[in-house]
Amino acid sequence: MAQDLVEGAAFPLDDAQANYLLRVLRLVADAPVRVFNGRDGEWEARIVDVHGKRASLTPDRLVRPQPDTPASAPVLLFAPVKKAETDFIVEKATELGAARIVPVLTDRTQTRTVRLDRFQKIVLEAAEQTERLDLPEVEDLQPLAKALDGLADGTVVIFCDERGDDAGAPWGGEKGRAGPIADVLGTLGDKPVAILIGPEGGFTLEERDWLRQRGDTAPVSLGPRILRAETAAVAALSVWQALKGD
Ligand code: SAM
Repeated sequence: MAQDLVEGAAFPLDDAQANYLLRVLRLVADAPVRVFNGRDGEWEARIVDVHGKRASLTPDRLVRPQPDTPASAPVLLFAPVKKAETDFIVEKATELGAARIVPVLTDRTQTRTVRLDRFQKIVLEAAEQTERLDLPEVEDLQPLAKALDGLADGTVVIFCDERGDDAGAPWGGEKGRAGPIADVLGTLGDKPVAILIGPEGGFTLEERDWLRQRGDTAPVSLGPRILRAETAAVAALSVWQALKGD
């Protein structure tokens, strides 16, 4: 749990933070720094109580109040892939404004465990990079059906389906076809959105059929080429950001 930020209330830096400020940036006592914790906004603070490798920070002045995560921000549901690519998805989802990041188990998900602490670190670093004060929630790996059931009422699941135009697909016909993502997002108005990306091996036919039968999904295409899962996540979130991002 990150420290509360309260004017004048000094708190000790952990070893990594102290090392970064004192050794990497070579800051000294009284140097000003900006801090945030995902809850209390952004503060101007000072380095105090420097003793060897240890130091504290005193928040002096609130410079940006804590914003709410925009109501339009999407949930990203994705099947984790290899470690580096999964980390990449978590980082880019944070940069591109996802409200919640939910790794899901699908029939072909290869990775059966995730490191939540690692995800939280990536989220924090990506938020720092983008000067994003609200941190997306990151959840533990969970079955796809459970993740879908956990979405807010009225959420439309943007089901990224690279095989949306398969003539031989069991759902068949125009009705089941995946529309271009920009067109589909353009029809949704203010409805909350979740973006769903499958695993390296894609969704099984049964899963795709099940997803299309649900009342809350909209199959979409990200173009004619089959993208890697991590590319698909960035592409879908970028289109959302361009059309609807606050
Ligand atoms: N294994 C599948 C294949 O070879 O046909 C490809 C799966 S793709 C690597 C991983 C995921 O990215 C898919 O499940 C889908 O959610 C998304 N995706 C990739 N390309 C897409 C596209 N052109 N349109 C929509 N979704 C796409």
